[in-house]
Amino acid sequence: MSDPATAARLTLDLTAGLKPAELEDFYRDLHRHPELAFQEHRTAAKLAARLRPAGYDVTEGVGRTGVVGVLVNGDGPVVWLRGDMDALPVQEATGLEYASTVDGVMHACGHDLHVTWLAAAAEVLAAARDTWSGTLVVVGQPAEESGGGAAAMVAAGVHPRFPRPDVLLGQHVTPGLAGFYPHTPGLTMSASDDIDVVVHGIGGHGSRPESTVDPVVTAAYIVTRLQTVVSREVAARESVVLTVGRFNAGTKHNIIPAEARLALNLRTQDTRVRERVLGAVRRIVAGECQAAGCRVPPEVTVRPGYPNTVNDACLDGEIAAVHRELFGAHTVFDFGPALGSEDFSLLAPTDVPYDYWYVTATPAEVWEAAPGDDLAEKFGNVPGNHSPLFAPDPSVLVPGVRTLVSAALSRLA
Ligand code: ZN
Ligand code: ZN
Repeated sequence: MSDPATAARLTLDLTAGLKPAELEDFYRDLHRHPELAFQEHRTAAKLAARLRPAGYDVTEGVGRTGVVGVLVNGDGPVVWLRGDMDALPVQEATGLEYASTVDGVMHACGHDLHVTWLAAAAEVLAAARDTWSGTLVVVGQPAEESGGGAAAMVAAGVHPRFPRPDVLLGQHVTPGLAGFYPHTPGLTMSASDDIDVVVHGIGGHGSRPESTVDPVVTAAYIVTRLQTVVSREVAARESVVLTVGRFNAGTKHNIIPAEARLALNLRTQDTRVRERVLGAVRRIVAGECQAAGCRVPPEVTVRPGYPNTVNDACLDGEIAAVHRELFGAHTVFDFGPALGSEDFSLLAPTDVPYDYWYVTATPAEVWEAAPGDDLAEKFGNVPGNHSPLFAPDPSVLVPGVRTLVSAALSRLA
């Protein structure tokens, strides 16, 4: 591993020739043509089309729409750089000249930036292969947005089809005044679970509720009582979110339906807390259904989503040091674990260290105009990931290439 100052200096040299306008054209094209999870055919082809001429051995269709590019360059560590490629079912409302041309689909999480950063970093590192030694594996991952894309790539045999990583690296665009590179050693993102609940009542005429067991009222009690799980059953020092995202029941004003369905999402940072909350959900659902007189027991199905993302503290410290050298000490800080979730870590075999950091990208004028007296207030008042107004500042294109290149070089040079 090279020292931070050397990796930073080399990165500035190697990226001096980057053409911001060319990067922005590529980015705008991806932004105009977003693709949902596992449908990233065009995006994957665009990435592959940049990796091949740069000298990568490229495999497409890994885990349906994933792309893997391998560049073997002598002895040394194997570094995996990962970017996700999918867009979201969001109707864009940014009014940007390069807004989505696909109705109801938008790159609202910035994965178009991730693909641009990844492609350009891969090119820079390939062109500079006489300055480092080892193997680079560039991964374009499909379906990060709860789609299980990393798991699909693992199921498709990324290990051992491709060289086993010594480290896995990745980054995500985030709101915040453009020009900062938050790093969190250890836990940086949370585990996520989806939970489906079906309440079986007894349907009937709206004028004769006494002949029914009303699943709408029962499910409403469940929704209300679930609000006490975090506030009354979890210690204040823990971070947990339990959200009821969907409540479906009924067809018409005068019909009491036979069932109601709830869709819950749970975010936790500790396995024991996760088990405790899941137990509370099961107990509350069963208890409310019993109280209502449901004759058929309810169904509670837990669909485990993404695990905690826990950066290797030592690796994160080393890469944070390189980013401080590159951009200035004040640009790198720890904003603590987020309740968001990622499947990035699934690409790392057990015991392989990984690091995942952030690049802030709120345009200065948007940040200045946002109400709020301090950073936290402003942070809550600028469009964030998944917002129809999410519009990262393209000025972060070159810095986001440098973060990746410097992190890779710190392991390879
Ligand atoms: Zn997202
Ligand atoms: Zn994302």
